[in-house]
Amino acid sequence: MSGKNKYRGFSTKAIHAGEEVDSRPGSVGEVVTPIHLSTTFIWDKPGRAHSRFEYIRSDNPTRSAYETKLASLENAKYGLAFASGLAAEYALMQVVFSPGDHVVGFDDLYGGTRRLFDELIPGLEVSYVDLSDPDEFDRAVRPNTKVLWIESPTNPMIRICDIAALAARAHARGILVVSDNTFLSPYFQQPLALGADVVVHSSTKYIGGHSDVLGGALLTNDDRLYEKLRGIQNNCGAVLSPFDSYLNIRGLKTLAVRMERHQKNAMAVAGFLKSHPRVTKVLYPGLEDHPGHDIIKKQATGFGGMLSFEIEGSLADAEQFLSKLELFSLAESLGGVESLIELPALMTHVGLSEETRREIGITDTLFRVSVGIEDAEDLIADLKRALG
Ligand SMILES: *Cc1c(COP(=O)(O)O)cnc(C)c1O
Repeated sequence: MSGKNKYRGFSTKAIHAGEEVDSRPGSVGEVVTPIHLSTTFIWDKPGRAHSRFEYIRSDNPTRSAYETKLASLENAKYGLAFASGLAAEYALMQVVFSPGDHVVGFDDLYGGTRRLFDELIPGLEVSYVDLSDPDEFDRAVRPNTKVLWIESPTNPMIRICDIAALAARAHARGILVVSDNTFLSPYFQQPLALGADVVVHSSTKYIGGHSDVLGGALLTNDDRLYEKLRGIQNNCGAVLSPFDSYLNIRGLKTLAVRMERHQKNAMAVAGFLKSHPRVTKVLYPGLEDHPGHDIIKKQATGFGGMLSFEIEGSLADAEQFLSKLELFSLAESLGGVESLIELPALMTHVGLSEETRREIGITDTLFRVSVGIEDAEDLIADLKRALG
């Protein structure tokens, strides 16, 4: 394995990092990391475990291979895999927050993250601001600000923030920077290299990639933070199972080719929507007139597969359009091979107050689309027919 780790290309690492071909005498020499289901591991004698594995929650070979592979792709020293994106986030919050601390978050953050901040971390002060303007961060900072929590792009408004600029401002005040990199995946963006201290993933999305596995991860280069996070991972136990680790490993191996295709299709769909007379707004950072276009070009190597758009009319028009779609499935979540569409006002963001939705810009005719890897012509034909 050590020999293979010298490779630098993303796809080479995605396929080989963390994999160990067992070529010992008597082994069958599998080229794929197996699903190790054993809950416990043998000891040579009391006080001397046979290997570094002792008990499945603490560490197991399949999860360890996945953690190594993902860390290698984010260029991180450490990776930790959890049972879901929110389990990973909650573990991190338990380590970094004390009662009375303050966090600054993007106002368009993932709803589940907002729920943890607002309802589940005792005594946390929270400010949500539009971080596409870095000055908003300076205005929101308080003496007790502990963490800056960002996403780029956000959803459903697909806003971009300047990760390096924000990290520099945060670090000047000793504030920890957490970047949720679910939407672009390590293939298009590596926030640790831009100054983030911790990267969060919901691997349920692009990393798994086939809408069939739940998972989350934390990546960092910080030794002390890693030790604490590993303690929480082991002691609270919301770990990724061996089977789910295997599926995430398999997802990572094709991440590069899938992301390229998601992006190519998203660009084609965004171009079509822009030209349609019933469409009043298209939010895709690959479009040159997107306000974050120059920043995303500077900090990422691609624009991803997520876009939002708005049509003229009312909620009834939105529902009628959705009912006519045949290829796009009406569903939440994102990042799988199949194209999904949803109406944030009644689905992913229904939990926000009407006022908050209005402030953010979520109208009754705004759709969020996870563009899949089908043939772009078929996707466009479906949208065209449904738009009428
Ligand atoms: C889905 C998602 C999460 C939560 O992840 P789960 O795996 O569903 O727990 C966090 N952040 C973002 C950006 C997401 O899209």
